[in-house]
Amino acid sequence: MAELLAASLVRDVPDFPKPGIVFKDIHPVLQTPAAFQQVVDLLAEDAKARQAESIIGIESRGFIFAAPIALQLGLPFVLCRKHGKLPSARVSQAYDLEYGQAVIEMHTDAMEPGHRAYIVDDVLATGGTAEAAALLVERLGAHVAGFGFLMELAFLPGREKLAGHSIHSLLKYE
Ligand code: AMP
Repeated sequence: MAELLAASLVRDVPDFPKPGIVFKDIHPVLQTPAAFQQVVDLLAEDAKARQAESIIGIESRGFIFAAPIALQLGLPFVLCRKHGKLPSARVSQAYDLEYGQAVIEMHTDAMEPGHRAYIVDDVLATGGTAEAAALLVERLGAHVAGFGFLMELAFLPGREKLAGHSIHSLLKYE
């Protein structure tokens, strides 16, 4: 298999946004068209194999990859947004952060009941955000076709949190 160009481009930023966190900065991937394209191609391939009928991007870096995947596959692109950003009727899901809670939302008419939705984000860390997105999909009567991430922080319990779902990540950090 061809080398993943993004592997050497993801930049570690220690102690951002707070002490003890190593932030995975994807800007160099986005600034390298061949690497960006490869990530989109590989995740689109997985979404297609999972028979996705719509592609969901999680705010905000999930949008960057989900939109071109949706266009490439000719599928609807659905936004999963932070609280207070969606203008029309919506469903909300709270989830735990390290300190406190956050809420993400989707429009109630974002997908047809029974639809197979493929959920995209840049990083799988604790899995709280992705799990909340999956709960929103299920509350709309749709199904999670699978998850696609550029990378996975495998030392965190994200995979366990999403147990039972297909998880495709292009890069794993142990
Ligand atoms: P989690 O809910 O813990 O799986 O966190 C996932 C979300 O937080 C994703 O939307 C990521 O963009 C972001 N995130 C979590 N940890 C990191 C990290 N170390 N570097 C960059 N982004 C992160």
